[in-house]
Amino acid sequence: MAIRINPNIAGITPYSPGKPIEELERELGITGSIKLASNENPRGPSPRALAVLAGTASSLHRYPDGGGHALRHALAEHWKVTPEQVILGNGSDEIIGLLTKAFLQPGDEAVIADPSFVVYKIDVAAAHATPVLVPLKEYRHDLAAMAKAISSKTRMVFICNPNNPTGTYVTAAEVSAFLRSVPPDVIVVFDEAYYEYVTATDYPDTLAVLASSRNVVVLRTFSKIYGLAGLRIGYGVTTGEIVGHLNRIRPPFNTNSPAQKAALAALEDEKHVQESRRGNIEGRHFLMERLRALGFTVVPSEANFLYFDARKDGKPLFDALLRHGVIVRHLGGTCLRVTIGLPHENQRFIDALQSVLSQEPCKEKSPP
Ligand SMILES: *Cc1c(COP(=O)(O)O)cnc(C)c1O
Repeated sequence: MAIRINPNIAGITPYSPGKPIEELERELGITGSIKLASNENPRGPSPRALAVLAGTASSLHRYPDGGGHALRHALAEHWKVTPEQVILGNGSDEIIGLLTKAFLQPGDEAVIADPSFVVYKIDVAAAHATPVLVPLKEYRHDLAAMAKAISSKTRMVFICNPNNPTGTYVTAAEVSAFLRSVPPDVIVVFDEAYYEYVTATDYPDTLAVLASSRNVVVLRTFSKIYGLAGLRIGYGVTTGEIVGHLNRIRPPFNTNSPAQKAALAALEDEKHVQESRRGNIEGRHFLMERLRALGFTVVPSEANFLYFDARKDGKPLFDALLRHGVIVRHLGGTCLRVTIGLPHENQRFIDALQSVLSQEPCKEKSPP
């Protein structure tokens, strides 16, 4: 018997993650590939987190602390908020799902930039609400257009800052101006997954915005600079009221005990964060220059990845790089995203790219 799927769910394109290295190597029969596709920290997990993790194995027969008491309290102290304002998630991804599930109903709208992190529109559709997509302007969130897109049906706005996949950011002044035109009962979600990489001095202090009693949610994660993507742990900072609502539907043991303990250690590992940030700036500078020298349009980035326009179909380029054992992201059309790797990985990517470009048939030349 044919099963019936909810049409809102049937309309969703499944999230396609970066290709795992093992899969690529199995398919092509190659070894020694590098993955620059998922914005992970190439320097690995915080050493302090690793040290703590080893000791967590012997208590794995116990359920985790569902409320994540120690980590929530540490985060509250770190960010000068109350523990009641902090919610932990199985990755910050999970919190996006909790937000859409808790606050959206059929007929409601959520305003989202396009292209941006695809999870927003998936979760909005899964909550049977309507994603309202507002095109980026010069690779950045067009906050003026997003403000105009807010209607009486809008319940939520997502601002991915820095934006994935373009790496651009919106400034404190732009955010203040935007918030003046957002009705107070609309929830504004700032997804700051790359927060720790940002060095721009005019980047907004969204926790201060939260303190001014706006309905904002600030999402951060241990998956990026802290190097714990495989453990699945992230958090949201918002009002106690919003956390209270999310807790009604949060799975009781959504974050596991090794993740909670490792995240706590990583949070206190300033050295790992600083070294990762510094290495990222150097690698980003290197890749930016090399990609521009190859004739690509490269978008300035505050994150640990670069978005570039190859000005030709990106799919054959992506496939050719794969055959060289280099995994990046093709984002449709002529654009690709590459995660900043370690120096030798960045060099390898550039070498592969150069080799691919030099092997292409040169269309300008007339046939012999
Ligand atoms: C990587 C990323 C996340 C984090 O996902 P986790 O579920 O915490 O691993 C969230 N938002 C954006 C925009 C990201 O790029």
